Amino acid sequence: MFIGLSTGCLYKNKGPISKDAINDISSTGCNAIELCAASKDRIYQLDSISNSDLKAFDYVSLHAPDDVIFDGSTNAKMVLDEILKQHERLDFDLVVIHGHNVVSRNVLKNYNLPFAIENHDTHFGKNVAEMELVFKNFDGNMVLDVLHSYIAGKSSAELTKSMNDEFKNRIVQIHLSGLGVHDDSQQHYPIYITRQLDILNSIPKNIPVIIESVLPKYDSIDKVLAELKNEYSYVKSYLLNGMK
Ligand SMILES: [Zn+2]
Repeated sequence: MFIGLSTGCLYKNKGPISKDAINDISSTGCNAIELCAASKDRIYQLDSISNSDLKAFDYVSLHAPDDVIFDGSTNAKMVLDEILKQHERLDFDLVVIHGHNVVSRNVLKNYNLPFAIENHDTHFGKNVAEMELVFKNFDGNMVLDVLHSYIAGKSSAELTKSMNDEFKNRIVQIHLSGLGVHDDSQQHYPIYITRQLDILNSIPKNIPVIIESVLPKYDSIDKVLAELKNEYSYVKSYLLNGMK
């Protein structure tokens, strides 16, 4: 079972696309990682990462930028060309894109990349009907973000259940975090602190899980590493015990 962390967990403490962030994730002992290139500039920072930096992981995914609309524009093509170039070096198992960033029927199909489309909490793709429209546009795999569906479902796991019922043949990865509010209103929070068991219980079984819980800014690296480990250990123990 793949259980890992997104480098985006660290964005308040260090650059998410860095060897440093990868080493921190690796220190937890997890077997999966998501490189969080949430903005376009981070795609180019991938040049600083090599295959050997990722050797501790059996599963590596990439979160595509959220500030790019994947239409037929030159800008979209440049970013996709760059993602393809990085994929040829780093061999991603998955490239995650938010549903509202996918607007062209054909643009993704021109790229031989392992795309999966993620549901959102506020943008388009926040409910079953909207995700059905997304898949009309791009008939492919899905990442189910169980925090997004929890928020869009008004702090209930009902929508997560509906999403899973509807799209279980497409879902290839889970994004997980707790619901809490940071000082910049970011809502992905460590679930070992927030303890929303209904979110944990809503996770479909035997699908790779990437933890996207953002850590608050801490003064020491020791605290960052300890909190990262706390979050990973809590989730891993919950998921593995729940599957016995
Ligand atoms: Zn997510």
